[in-house]
Amino acid sequence: MILQQTPGLLKRIYPSLTWKKESENEIFLTFDDGPHPTITRWILDELDKYQAKATFFCVGENLSLFREMAEETRSRGHMLANHTFRHENGWKTRSKNYLKSISACNDLLAEMVNCSNQLFRPPYGRIKRNQISEVRKNYEIVMWSHLSWDFKKNLDISSSIENLQKAQLGSIVVFHDNEKSFGNLKKILPPVLEHWSSLNYEFSVL
Ligand SMILES: [Zn+2]
Repeated sequence: MILQQTPGLLKRIYPSLTWKKESENEIFLTFDDGPHPTITRWILDELDKYQAKATFFCVGENLSLFREMAEETRSRGHMLANHTFRHENGWKTRSKNYLKSISACNDLLAEMVNCSNQLFRPPYGRIKRNQISEVRKNYEIVMWSHLSWDFKKNLDISSSIENLQKAQLGSIVVFHDNEKSFGNLKKILPPVLEHWSSLNYEFSVL
C-alpha cells in the first residue's frame, strides 16, 4: 500500500487552510474524535513519557459523555479543540446545520473546560467551500501534513511508521482517539514518539 505523504490535491484546492506550521524545534501532534474513557488515558500516558503536549480535536457528544476525561486532558497540559458536535461530514451536511454543530461543540468546550479556542478541524477533512468561508470568520481551520492512517483496516504498520518518520519541524500529524483506530495506534504511536524524540523534536500544542 502506498501511503500519501501529504494530501496534495486538497492542499492545492484549499491553500487558505492550515496544513503545517513554521517552527524551529517543534512538531504538532493531533488526536481526533475523543475523548474516550480509556483510550485517551493511554494516549496521555504515552505522551507523558516524552513530555509531549498535543492538541485533541474533540467531538461534542464525546465531551458531554466523558467530561472528566476532557478535564484530565486539559489539566495534563494539552489543548482541546473543536471537531463538531456529532462528527458531521461537511459535504453531506447543510451549511446552517454544520455551523450550528461547530458552535455547540465550542459552547461545550467553553463551559466545561474553559477551553474555548479558535481551532477547528473538519471531520473526514470534508468541508464545502461556502462552509470554509463561514467557519474562517471565527476559527482557524487546521488540516494536517501527515496522516497516520490509524483508522484503516489491515493497515501496513511499517509503512505508516516509515511515512510518519518523515515528519519535519512544523509538521502537523493526525492520529485518532477512538476504538476503531486503537489497535493500530498502539503499534504506531510508541515507535514514532521514540523516533521524533531521538531527533530532539519537541511536541507542542497548536
Ligand atoms: Zn474525526
